[in-house]
Amino acid sequence: MISFRDASYTYSIKTPFEKLAVKNVSFDLNEGEIVGIIGHTGSGKSTLIQMMDALLLPTSGEVYINCTSVQDKKANLKQLRANIGMVFQYPEVQIFEETIFDEVAFGPKNQGISGEELEQRVSSACAVVGLNSGDYKKSPLALSGGQKRKVAIASVLSMKPKVLILDEPTAGLDPRARNSLLKFLKEYNKKFGVSIVMVSHSMEEIAEIADRVLVLNKGEIVMDDATNNVFARREFLKSVGLDIPEISTMMNMLGVTDCWTVSDAILRLKSSMTVANGKRAEVVDAKEGGVGSGV
Ligand code: ADP
Repeated sequence: MISFRDASYTYSIKTPFEKLAVKNVSFDLNEGEIVGIIGHTGSGKSTLIQMMDALLLPTSGEVYINCTSVQDKKANLKQLRANIGMVFQYPEVQIFEETIFDEVAFGPKNQGISGEELEQRVSSACAVVGLNSGDYKKSPLALSGGQKRKVAIASVLSMKPKVLILDEPTAGLDPRARNSLLKFLKEYNKKFGVSIVMVSHSMEEIAEIADRVLVLNKGEIVMDDATNNVFARREFLKSVGLDIPEISTMMNMLGVTDCWTVSDAILRLKSSMTVANGKRAEVVDAKEGGVGSGV
């Protein structure tokens, strides 16, 4: 879907403020995968995702969207970007319209869609994120943080992107809204095969959602591997200012070294409690002299 080949990005090039933010990055984003991007503040995450959407063009190397180089003079960037939906960290920066309906309709309208198809695009995008049609006339800016995020996501989904890129999508959300957003993203990815790229500072969230993780440090990808393999390298993560999820630290103390999510920890604790209870029952049985009598 998106390929980087030795791509770099330098801000304010050839000025005293020149800053190399992304350095010689190569990777392929495949169809249907969920990729987490982690890295210390200033490691280049935001710059990298803006390059994925051709909002920033590489200052050296190549970036391809759907096999078309974004530097190709004949490339239609607007058309290439239509494949990619970007949800910014602060939904306010991408909400402009006065009503939820207009906001969600904005993208498809720009693609020349109108009438019944436009209404259908809006209603299915809103339904998918759980926005009610009774709220269409409300102002998106008067909503709670979680609802605003839903509008921002719906306004991107209404364009039917093949790739969804989200920058810290759970920032500012309460735990319930956070969990429901992560659940939604997983289900959406499964149902529609849309690739998802998510930047997050929360190792818990990345462990929960990502199939694959890119670790950035000083603008370079220093690890690109399956989520389990990335979190298995705790010392390396620490060396770049990151760590494994907190639940993994606790499970480590209990002697479990490959548990990265709360749901997996619950499963494992439950099964070890069942085993422990079984053993306790056997001990009681043996003491009382009858098979099953202690259960
Ligand atoms: P992250 O998202 O991981 O915090 P960024 O991509 O925002 O990292 O920033 C990478 C580097 O580029 C940082 O050193 C940052 O200061 C610098 N940078 C980001 N935006 C600009 C800009 N508009 N002009 C100059 N330097 C920038």
